[in-house]
Formats: sequence, structure tokens, C-alpha cells
Amino acid sequence: MAYSHLLIAIDLTEDCHRVLDRANALCQALSCQATLVHVVEPLTMAFGGDVPMDLSLLQQQQTEQAQNKLNILAEQHQLLKENNCHLRYGQPRQEIHLLAKEQHCDLIIVGSHGRHGLALLLGSTTNDLLSGAPCDVLAVDLKDHDPED
Ligand code: AMP
Repeated sequence: MAYSHLLIAIDLTEDCHRVLDRANALCQALSCQATLVHVVEPLTMAFGGDVPMDLSLLQQQQTEQAQNKLNILAEQHQLLKENNCHLRYGQPRQEIHLLAKEQHCDLIIVGSHGRHGLALLLGSTTNDLLSGAPCDVLAVDLKDHDPED
């Protein structure tokens, strides 16, 4: 059975070009629908929720930058269509699972690893996404392989 609706989750790092290229190729091969998502993680989560300062302005700037980057990437990879770009706020696993259910996606596409944000403290989002995923999950290999291997 082929997939009909891909959910591409990107962390907006350089690595996400590889995820987007692979997802785009799959999308064209299957002639299916694609939805793009980035989840902005609450800054307070990185500090255990106990921060003695107001982070709201910083959080707003982070959200605006993320929205701009998401739009640019979607356009660059020719994935921008009406309503297919989602910026969510919260915990990546929770938000990505929720969006997959809401949009009736049947395949979530992510990178196999990342080196940023809370992942440094809590481990890989990809591993996290696998547990309780509402559909299949495809992890795009982001490692640079040695041609001698
Ligand atoms: P990491 O958890 O940093 O190892 O990231 C692994 C992969 O999970 C990335 O390549 C993305 O595909 C996805 N991912 C990580 N963080 C986010 C995020 N905030 N929003 C959407 N996808 C994410």
C-alpha cells in the first residue's frame, strides 16, 4: 500500500535539506500530499521551567524567525502549498503526533539525528517520535558516509 500523505518534520538546521530532498523525491514518486512542520520548543523547557526572567520577547523573536525560515525552506524545496506549512509550539513528539492525526498523515519523515536544542539534554527526537507514533516513521540517514566503507 502506498502512502498518501507525508508529514515532514524539520528542525530548521542545515541537516533538514537532506530530509526535504528525500521527502520531496518520495512525494513526487508517490504523487502524494505533503505537510511540513516545525515545532518551536518553549524556552522555559530548556531551563526546567524555572527561569527568573521574562522570556516572552525572546520567544516571540524565535517564533518569527522560525516561521520565516520554514516558509523559505518550503519554497526552496517546492513544497509550499496552501495550508501545508505548520509552525507548532510545544514538545516536538507531542505536537508532531497530534498534527499527524489531525491531518490524517500516514508517514512521518524525520532526520536520523540532530545536534541542537533539547535533544542535547534529552536524547533524539527521532527515538522519541517512534514511541506511540500514529503511523509509520521514516528516518532519513543524516550521517556523512565514508566512501571507503
Ligand atoms: P534530534 O532530536 O535533534 O536528534 O532531531 C532528529 C530529527 O527530528 C530532525 O532531523 C528533525 O527531522 C526532527 N526534529 C527535531 N526537532 C524538531 C522540531 N523542533 N520540530 C520538528 N522536527 C524536529
